[in-house]
Amino acid sequence: MRDPLEGGNTAPAEGGDGRRYVLEDTGFDEVPKKYRRFYRKWKGPGDTLAPNEVLCPVCKVVIRSTRALRDGDRVYCMPCMSRLVVFTNDAGALEARVAY
Ligand SMILES: [Zn+2]
Repeated sequence: MRDPLEGGNTAPAEGGDGRRYVLEDTGFDEVPKKYRRFYRKWKGPGDTLAPNEVLCPVCKVVIRSTRALRDGDRVYCMPCMSRLVVFTNDAGALEARVAY
């Protein structure tokens, strides 16, 4: 099983709790079954993202990792095949942008 979170940056965050998140299958059916738990549908502006989740700016799908995401993390959005980089926006929240 491959986490959407890519390479290198796998050690627990400095000062973080190194918590692992248990992901459940939410029935997201746009990717093969074994990857479904790593994605879920975005429910709109009222939806709240967990520390291990980030919204794909391309297809508006929520990408989920087994650990909290951090500024600079690279994630892969399988539904739209985008490589993304996580960054902290002006509001202090995590967002993703397309990596080139
Ligand atoms: Zn996407």
